[in-house]
Amino acid sequence: MTDPDLAAVRQWVQIDAAGFPSIPSPVLTTGQGTPYLRAPGVVLIAQPRVHLSGIADFLHGFDPQLEFAQYLQDPTELPSGAQLCKTAGQLCYASFTPRRTWNAEANRYFQNLKASGHGSVLEHASYSFLLYGISRSVTHELVRHRAGCAYSQISQRYVSGKVLRFVERPEYVEDPELHAWFERRIDAAAADYAALTEALAARQKSGVELLNAEARTDLRKKVQQAARSLLPNETEAPMVMTANARAWRHIIEMRANPHAEVEIRALALRVYLCLAAVDPFLFGDYRLVRLSDGTLGVETEHPKV
Ligand SMILES: Cc1cc2nc3c(=O)[nH]c(=O)nc-3n(C[C@H](O)[C@H](O)[C@H](O)COP(=O)(O)OP(=O)(O)OC[C@H]3O[C@@H](n4cnc5c(N)ncnc54)[C@H](O)[C@@H]3O)c2cc1C
Repeated sequence: MTDPDLAAVRQWVQIDAAGFPSIPSPVLTTGQGTPYLRAPGVVLIAQPRVHLSGIADFLHGFDPQLEFAQYLQDPTELPSGAQLCKTAGQLCYASFTPRRTWNAEANRYFQNLKASGHGSVLEHASYSFLLYGISRSVTHELVRHRAGCAYSQISQRYVSGKVLRFVERPEYVEDPELHAWFERRIDAAAADYAALTEALAARQKSGVELLNAEARTDLRKKVQQAARSLLPNETEAPMVMTANARAWRHIIEMRANPHAEVEIRALALRVYLCLAAVDPFLFGDYRLVRLSDGTLGVETEHPKV
């Protein structure tokens, strides 16, 4: 990677004392106080925790001449995801003897694995992110990824207008007219939402059947599930997303890609940067590339692992 701008992009990643990366996204407000964000915020909140000493009994149960027991004495520590996938992969061939690929050669091990397309081994390591500063249109695209993925997204039926935020598209940011238009639009959406929930709550009190419910929470839901109909695609829709390393690789390749939409590309790029920081063995084969529209994508020699 020679382009200094590309090198600087990796500095977006902040790694906390526990070794968890994130790329934050600041919150801005309009003159009327409507909150909005301009970029995806990504925070790794869970990653594998590997504890191999428990397999000692299993290793000791084989012919001592095979020397399986010394498998646990590998002096090179790997990131937890890489260690998990490597041990899982080595189990397939009972590669526990001193002639196995040691952790010091993990890079070669994973290069071979990726080159041969043995991606199922990568499914053992899962990573969970909080994703925010992302619009409802992006999340609608993201949740199309099913294999190896889990989602928990903010419920527009449950939460009130107090947590309503919006996402400004990059096309508007530098254009004073489009930016002012965006701010007017989200101020109006927030005000309309507040007025509509009030009007619906008034109808609920007056006994409109469709808005009726037994429980207090359900009463609120009946109002909010109707009021959300006016919210635009640029409403923020945060989620916690978990996927295994193979699924993340697929998503990064499909979405940090010139054919992908620009907002989901920005999200996939940030997820990639965090994953590459936390586990270079599983995600270090990607290269950052500058695309013709000035945004960034990634490429690899080993797609579709
Ligand atoms: C640039 C771009 C444009 C798009 N445009 C549109 C569009 O116009 N309209 C639209 O509806 N969608 C569109 N999509 C969404 C796309 O069709 C997929 O639904 C989405 O990318 C999820 O990817 P995936 O199918 O690989 O699923 P994932 O769930 O990510 O699956 C990963 C892989 O697992 C395998 N797999 C998963 N599920 C199954 C299954 N049920 N059966 C067999 N194999 C399976 C496949 O090999 C698949 O590639 C677009 C996506 C991109 C990236």
